Amino acid sequence: MAARVFGRLLPLSLLWALALPAAAWNAAGHRISAMIAWESMDVPTRDAVATILRQHPDFEQWLLRANGADPDLTAFLEASTWPDDIRRDKRFYTSGSEEPTPTQPGFPDMERRLNWHFVDRPVGRYERLLPSPGVIDQQLVALARTVGDRKEKLSARAYALPWLIHLVGDAHQPLHAASRYGPDGQSDQGGNKMTISNPLHAHASSISLHRYWDDLPAPPWLNGSRLHSTVIALISRHPAPAATGTPEQWIDESWQIASEHAYPPEVDAVPTITADFHNQALTIANRRVTEAGYRLAALLRQLLR
Ligand SMILES: [Zn+2]
Repeated sequence: MAARVFGRLLPLSLLWALALPAAAWNAAGHRISAMIAWESMDVPTRDAVATILRQHPDFEQWLLRANGADPDLTAFLEASTWPDDIRRDKRFYTSGSEEPTPTQPGFPDMERRLNWHFVDRPVGRYERLLPSPGVIDQQLVALARTVGDRKEKLSARAYALPWLIHLVGDAHQPLHAASRYGPDGQSDQGGNKMTISNPLHAHASSISLHRYWDDLPAPPWLNGSRLHSTVIALISRHPAPAATGTPEQWIDESWQIASEHAYPPEVDAVPTITADFHNQALTIANRRVTEAGYRLAALLRQLLR
């Protein structure tokens, strides 16, 4: 709807971003990666992270959800979903379709930055058909530089850190790095425009392929002790990768996975999720959120020690 209403006003880049109903891994997927990172970080890195997050303008709000848990861990988990939470926050605005809102203390501006969450590369072919409207690849590099720069203002580092935590997760969602292009040259926007039939899930039997992948790691409400037991199980099943790699490599891996495994075979007009496809997708999604967690820990250690 938004895309059509504003179609004449908006550059192509924003159409992609506005059309994104989901937000990469759902909230639980991001919390899983963040908690794995927290479990893997040494105390000095945790302390450095906590010191920066305490300067974030929304820190006090995050603590309201602590529910007796460690405040530093609570802030870290809340920070991991903050870039998605502001999609529904009236203090913020969507560039290109809304008037800028007044800048609140501690923020550089109030833009939602929807095009930071993804990069659009065609599945199955390495060259891009068009310049990507999404810039997660560039932002991961820029945000890491800001977070690690001790000469930078603490408020700038506090703004950048939740974004960095979140985007490391997004970079590991295969459909945040790739889209399928039709014969008409139109992108399916990371599977957002592809409807699938999922007979294995009664409550979400007809959803977009993108949303199907977002929800694979866990239901969005997962938190507290159940989140912790999920994380412990994932850590025991997946040892830390030998090398951390770079954001470019994580995005390449996601693109490769999307090219080979993210799309169900199109036997009918509406592709159907089979038990075999689902089991494979679930294995991949669990591995990716776990890798994201380990790599986030290693990146933060490297930036903040
Ligand atoms: Zn996101």
